[in-house]
Amino acid sequence: MTALPIIESSSPQADAPPRRRAAMPPRHLADLDPAERRAAIADLGEREFRAGQVSTHYFGRLVRDPAAMTDLPAASRARIAGAMLPQLLTPVRELACDDGATRKTLWRLHDGSLVESVLMGYPDRVTVCISSQAGCGMACPFCATGQAGLTRNLSTAEIVDQVVSFAAVAASGAIPGSPPRLSHVVFMGMGEPLANYPRVIGAVRRLTDPAPDGLGLSQRHITVSTVGLVPAIRRLTEEGLAVTLALSLHAPDDELRDELVPVNQRWKVAEVLDAAWAYAEQTGRRVSIEYAMIKNVNDHPWRADLLGELLSGRLAHVNLIPLNPTPGSRWDASPKPVEREFVRRLRAAGVPTTVRDTRGREIDGACGQLAASEVEQ
Ligand code: SAH
Repeated sequence: MTALPIIESSSPQADAPPRRRAAMPPRHLADLDPAERRAAIADLGEREFRAGQVSTHYFGRLVRDPAAMTDLPAASRARIAGAMLPQLLTPVRELACDDGATRKTLWRLHDGSLVESVLMGYPDRVTVCISSQAGCGMACPFCATGQAGLTRNLSTAEIVDQVVSFAAVAASGAIPGSPPRLSHVVFMGMGEPLANYPRVIGAVRRLTDPAPDGLGLSQRHITVSTVGLVPAIRRLTEEGLAVTLALSLHAPDDELRDELVPVNQRWKVAEVLDAAWAYAEQTGRRVSIEYAMIKNVNDHPWRADLLGELLSGRLAHVNLIPLNPTPGSRWDASPKPVEREFVRRLRAAGVPTTVRDTRGREIDGACGQLAASEVEQ
């Protein structure tokens, strides 16, 4: 890859070039903070407290149908809902496996872009994996989303609405053997969240603001996963949020990481780890180091030892992801004995290490498999 990512630095939409602005969706309640919502309602000629009522419907009750908003005057209900809650996501396809405990939805956005999100129900939690961009510009060669390039950033509300939709599914009791309250969000779907910085931060605030201003999730239950955009990690460190940071390392040495995570050509392993440790120090949060196990590529014992040296004594744990081979990929997952030896060496170096489950493989909903354009054909 030669093109380097552009990191956005100011407020949503204001700085976007006209062509991208044209593709952005209509404004939605979830794009706005409470004061902006009151102003938007006042612009409609309605009393400001109606903003709180609409927020309670959307974030508190997970209701979007204007007909159900009986505390709004019947005459203005449809107009308020139309202006504050335009439909942003239209489900195109819904797939389930694990007896309904894993669900993937393919959404069509207002401009025809497609994105996916995945819900995973566990006995103690419900986690949703969401997309932050349509496509992705980071070009990691083993990732399905990376192959098609970036279409556009999602708006804050397009990100939030993926979570609210699945929260409503969980609340309906549709996830067998799981609690009815969606509790965890991971930005591990399509896109590079830190390349869509202001909108992703806006989404984190909406997700974590107490109801009815937001969804009331715990900051520590939100994981932002990044290829390692160093200036954006440093900015996140100053944001005053205690979200979990996941860093997609995939190789402990620059030579291999330059290939697997092309942005490494710009910010090297040592630099990105420095930024991760600064984040850990500021927030007290353990950084999650993501490492896809790729047969004969990055799974050598010496690489486990080098990774162990880099991480030993740090506030970090390693999450090994068995590679999900993507269509046409020349790469495969590491054999289990190789994986076990890799884990053993990391643990011997004192680094907490887990192997991620491969939920959703059957429905192409597992890590790195989200590639909506395939479904489009
Ligand atoms: N852009 C963010 C989020 C992407 S997906 C990031 O890179 O962190 C979340 C994780 O899945 C990343 O660690 C990513 O590298 C990993 N991943 C992508 N494709 C994969 C594949 N085919 N098999 C296993 N993990 C993969």
